[in-house]
Amino acid sequence: SANKKTRNAIQFYSQELKEASHRRIDLEQALKLAIENDELLLNLQPILNLKTLKIEKAEVLVRWNRPDEGIVMPSEFIAIAEKTGLIVPLGKWVFNKAAEYLKQLERSDIQIKLSINLSPMQVMDSSFFEFIKSTIERQQVDPTLLELEVTESSLINDYNEVFNLLNSARGLGLSVSVDDFGTGYSSLAYLKRLPIDILKIDRSFVQDIATDANDKAIVMAVIAMAHQLKLKVIAEGVETQEQQRFLVDNECDSAQGYLFSRPILFADFVKLISSQWQSS
Ligand code: C2E
Ligand code: MG
Ligand code: MG
Ligand code: MG
Repeated sequence: SANKKTRNAIQFYSQELKEASHRRIDLEQALKLAIENDELLLNLQPILNLKTLKIEKAEVLVRWNRPDEGIVMPSEFIAIAEKTGLIVPLGKWVFNKAAEYLKQLERSDIQIKLSINLSPMQVMDSSFFEFIKSTIERQQVDPTLLELEVTESSLINDYNEVFNLLNSARGLGLSVSVDDFGTGYSSLAYLKRLPIDILKIDRSFVQDIATDANDKAIVMAVIAMAHQLKLKVIAEGVETQEQQRFLVDNECDSAQGYLFSRPILFADFVKLISSQWQSS
């Protein structure tokens, strides 16, 4: 009967909810120990200059290697880390590890920028700048080789705090990009006021640029606007040659995506970049 069907559906639904909440609680408790147990690792995804087709930068992306489970992706644990405040120590671990990698690259005479994702909670943390500064000094890395990626939601949260952090970071030589551009609460007014250098066009706009007239128009407009504002543009999630061609034709500066490389381990990144270095 319809009644029984509904009851079954509800039971099924509540079972799913229960499992999801168990999963969340399990991740939340284990995440607390993940840093001290050395379970986090970083992948690097190359970002290519679209004029030269050389790797000019890499985005640092965190993964969690759980014993008995394997790799847990950030889509599963970043939100939990934000909700519990664990994003603060996690974010510091990521920044420190990225600086370590940068140092290793510098030692091999490889000058490549690394960009690091920051969550809204991190850009609101007034102690984060001191941490950045002291890490750069301790690791003795070139600050102009570091980039911070913030999302639009970070930028509208608390204007002064965020403005101060980004301004100080840029004063130190770091650059700043707006990640997932176009997906947030888009007031374009902040673009001219904020201390930023780069716009990263979200993958959702790039996906259909070869076929969808609206997406073509949006991406062209974003590139033109960014260049007028003296900002560089990176396209995210480039998977096909047609997308690449469109971006090149429309003077997008840089791109990242599976077409060029997935996020990879540091050792593999070093191999990849070394072969590029030798062939140039
Ligand atoms: P994001 O910063 O926008 O990073 C780009 C995401 O797109 C990455 O997912 C990357 O693997 C994926 N991607 C790159 N190229 C392609 C492509 O061609 N096709 C498709 N389908 N996907 C592509 P990932 O590594 O799973 O990270 C997801 C999100 O988690 C990131 O999005 C970022 O918001 C967050 N995240 C990752 N690492 C960190 C971190 O260290 N700190 C913070 N706060 N957030 C992080
Ligand atoms: Mg990013
Ligand atoms: Mg992004
Ligand atoms: Mg994204």
